[in-house]
Amino acid sequence: MPTYTAPLEDIRFVLFDYLGVDQASHLPGFADMSRDTIDDILNGAAAIAENVLHPLNRIGDEEGCHLENGIVRTPTGFADAYRTFCDGGWNRLSMPESYGGFGVPAVVAMAVNEMMTSANQAFSMYAGLTGAASAALMGFAPDEIKRLYIPKMVRGTWTGTMNLTEPHCGTDLRLMKTRASEQPDDTYRINGTKIYISGGDQDLTENIVHLVLAKIPDEHGQVRDDLGQVNLFLVPKFLVNSDGTLGPRNGVTCTAVERKMGIKGNATAVLVYENAIGYRIGPKPEASTTKGATDSPVATTAPRSRGMAGMFAMMNMARLGVGFQGMAQAEIAYQNAAQYARDRLQARSISGVKNPELPADPIIVHPDVRRMLLNIRSFVEGARALGLWLAMENARARAAQDESVKNRAQDLGDLLTPVIKAFFTDMGFESTNAAMQCFGGAGYVRDTGMEQFVRDARILQIYEGTNGVQALDLVGRKLSAKGGRAAMTFFQLIHSTINTYSADERMAAFIAPLKTAVDRLQRATMWFAANARAYPDNAGAGASEYLRMMGITAIALTWTELAAVSLRRIAEIESGTPGRRDFYQAKLICARHWMERMVPETAAQLDRIEAGGENIMKMHADIF
Ligand SMILES: Cc1cc2nc3c(=O)[nH]c(=O)nc-3n(C[C@H](O)[C@H](O)[C@H](O)COP(=O)(O)OP(=O)(O)OC[C@H]3O[C@@H](n4cnc5c(N)ncnc54)[C@H](O)[C@@H]3O)c2cc1C
Repeated sequence: MPTYTAPLEDIRFVLFDYLGVDQASHLPGFADMSRDTIDDILNGAAAIAENVLHPLNRIGDEEGCHLENGIVRTPTGFADAYRTFCDGGWNRLSMPESYGGFGVPAVVAMAVNEMMTSANQAFSMYAGLTGAASAALMGFAPDEIKRLYIPKMVRGTWTGTMNLTEPHCGTDLRLMKTRASEQPDDTYRINGTKIYISGGDQDLTENIVHLVLAKIPDEHGQVRDDLGQVNLFLVPKFLVNSDGTLGPRNGVTCTAVERKMGIKGNATAVLVYENAIGYRIGPKPEASTTKGATDSPVATTAPRSRGMAGMFAMMNMARLGVGFQGMAQAEIAYQNAAQYARDRLQARSISGVKNPELPADPIIVHPDVRRMLLNIRSFVEGARALGLWLAMENARARAAQDESVKNRAQDLGDLLTPVIKAFFTDMGFESTNAAMQCFGGAGYVRDTGMEQFVRDARILQIYEGTNGVQALDLVGRKLSAKGGRAAMTFFQLIHSTINTYSADERMAAFIAPLKTAVDRLQRATMWFAANARAYPDNAGAGASEYLRMMGITAIALTWTELAAVSLRRIAEIESGTPGRRDFYQAKLICARHWMERMVPETAAQLDRIEAGGENIMKMHADIF
């Protein structure tokens, strides 16, 4: 059976050594964030992740969720664990104190969420989606809705869901058929079917707050295939009285729970809305005359309904969370693979026997096994630091007076959100797969639990917008937004890091590959600028390559910074400061691994991008 030990030493390295979170008391929300306080939070989170959530991970996978007499039953132990989780306040760390949360900075809460996800992804999704839903309500709901719903959601008494997908409409939300008919009392009646809704029904809480996208028909009762009519609605499973008590059951029913590949402990529900009472969240959409308008991610001018603002806010937050889920799955898979590689005896090292007293050497002596382990580890540690750095940039930007600092964080967040979602989850899947490979046949059979990580990680590349669509968002929208300002900001950031360390010989092994990566990325960006407008399929054909290139480059930038911190710490330890030298030396090895093994991929990516889309588009659909 797999084990999980929260990677506290590395999380502390990122939070304290790299980001100086404990030195940021001048930032809003950071005043109480001393090192001791953060340590207490991390230790508490590690305990519940290791001792409460992780033991349920396999049970959730074995049992799954079942619809019984109209009620969805979650796996044995989930309901008790959910209560323990919420009683401890782990669901609401970063929620505002005004709603009953703890106001802990997002950078710390993200580190905590990582542990919960590694321990049990399916379980942690119930609370994760509730957090995103309550954040959308905080931003866009009328005051009365905020008063009635948010405190209960923050406490975890009720959970939240997001409902976009319909049987004929996943990526292309224009095609949505769910309708919202306005009533004289300003409420709406929602009719339609939503599928694949995570946590769409469960037996953990007394009520569920569904955030639902639906179209408000025009004055002729018609709905069109565009986004102009789409709006966001709150539809509770049980109606809520004005004193906060529960009223009668609303017209939303779970008609099925999907049987699926992974995250079996999370109920993926089909929800049928029949005259369900809904409340509009956010402004009414403007009357739109743009029939057939497109929301193709490649079209930069596509109209979007103002009414979808709440859902987009929720989705952006969820995308970063999903990226972190990819890293978290890779972390637990790595831990188990590294342990197995130390224990499993097979063959002798090709450079000479390493353990003559044993009948064979442990497989960790083999370069190919080490290659797999280092691929995973250099991704996990680089991704963790990059994600937490972005959260810290946001915190700094919120406090800044200077508009340019705010813009910088906003630009980097906009640009890197699709990258974190897609690259982290692609790498998360590759990593769990590589970790399973380290086990040989023992990874493929169920007993070791390694194949569950692969199955659980696979969904991350699909939900919250498929990774292909994230790439189109990056290339079609984010690169050209505000005259390309975000990409310029990213490139400047990298060049400034290169300049900072270029005189330091010890940094040469990191700076040279970083420069190569950013040069290639800039060349690819210019290629799109020159070749995508006249022939948009050039952008579509190269988008996924470009996103991966940007992900590799962003982590190369992060590893360069982490290498500099590690060199500094090693020098301090050598002059007598206490510390674990081997920890920082391992950082330098991982940094070099990323530069030597991942950055070279960017050459092939550039070639593929510059090959364009013509040949890809040539073959007739019938011949495929
Ligand atoms: C376990 C699970 C949980 C989920 N949870 C939720 C949830 O909580 N709420 C919710 O609303 N939805 C949820 N989903 C739905 C999920 O977000 C969608 O499956 C996803 O957005 C893709 O939509 P689709 O399945 O209709 O695929 P499609 O949109 O049909 O896409 C099929 C393929 O075509 C590609 N494609 C489509 N359009 C383009 C384009 N313009 N350019 C290039 N490629 C394109 C896609 O990348 C994909 O590879 C969940 C799904 C699953 C399986």
